Amino acid sequence: MSDMKYKVIGNKRAELGESPFWDEQNGVLYWLDILSGKIFDLDPITGQENEITVGKPIGCAALREKGGFVAALEDGFYFITHSEAKWNAEIFEYIENKPGDRFNDGKCDPAGRFWAGTMSKGDKGKAALYVMDINRTVRKAVDGVTVSNGLTWSLDSKIMYYTDTVTSEVWAFDYDLANGRLANKRTAIRVPDGMGLPDGMTIDAEGMLWVALWGGYCVSRWDPDTGSLLCKIDLPVPHTSSCAFGGRNMDELYITSAREGLDEAQLRAQPLSGALFMVKPGVSGVPMFRYKG
Ligand code: CA
Repeated sequence: MSDMKYKVIGNKRAELGESPFWDEQNGVLYWLDILSGKIFDLDPITGQENEITVGKPIGCAALREKGGFVAALEDGFYFITHSEAKWNAEIFEYIENKPGDRFNDGKCDPAGRFWAGTMSKGDKGKAALYVMDINRTVRKAVDGVTVSNGLTWSLDSKIMYYTDTVTSEVWAFDYDLANGRLANKRTAIRVPDGMGLPDGMTIDAEGMLWVALWGGYCVSRWDPDTGSLLCKIDLPVPHTSSCAFGGRNMDELYITSAREGLDEAQLRAQPLSGALFMVKPGVSGVPMFRYKG
């Protein structure tokens, strides 16, 4: 699969593209630029693109069953709602981060909770993963991480996959869907040195993990039970950041990328950095979950 051809989708370019998610009800793909605080949406059939500016860096967002979005902006959990012809970001729970630190990747679980983690710019081990339940209470679920990323659930909802990017590992936890509790942390995948670092991920309909490899010029498919690499799809940018399945048949894999951290010469050499890509990997995905609170 490594010579599979990618397409560049849409005209938007992000400094730090992230958090792609598919709205199967409306046939729209959403993704973010974390640093400029924008939510982009794209209809892959018509090519129509729009953007919402939320006014602060936005680490991740997900659809909300009641409409609009739940999101983790720089400093806490927000609801983003549409009223009087404009979008409003309203803070729900403030989380104190050290200056320069901020929220990063997140996603909803199969029960409709919203999970989001932080990243620590300076000290190692100062970031955490939080979960907002559907009754809107927030608690810290994992402590002592540095760059919280990844997040997806096994098809039977019994395992949560998660990564602290700086460790090069994807972890598996036993997952209690009824209460959102994690147990029995173990290493599912160890990304070899030189391949890039594990960033955002998703799961396909065969239960295999798709992991964007930051610095690795690719997305990669892994068997989380054996930890083995199944294939990788090369992309013309060093910093792939996350991926999500979408499209009418859920057979399109959308991949975000970033310009962040690249110098002038690299940006000239990899001018598509920051673009949204799509490949058809020959396997389909599963619909993403919405926030139920
Ligand atoms: Ca990320």
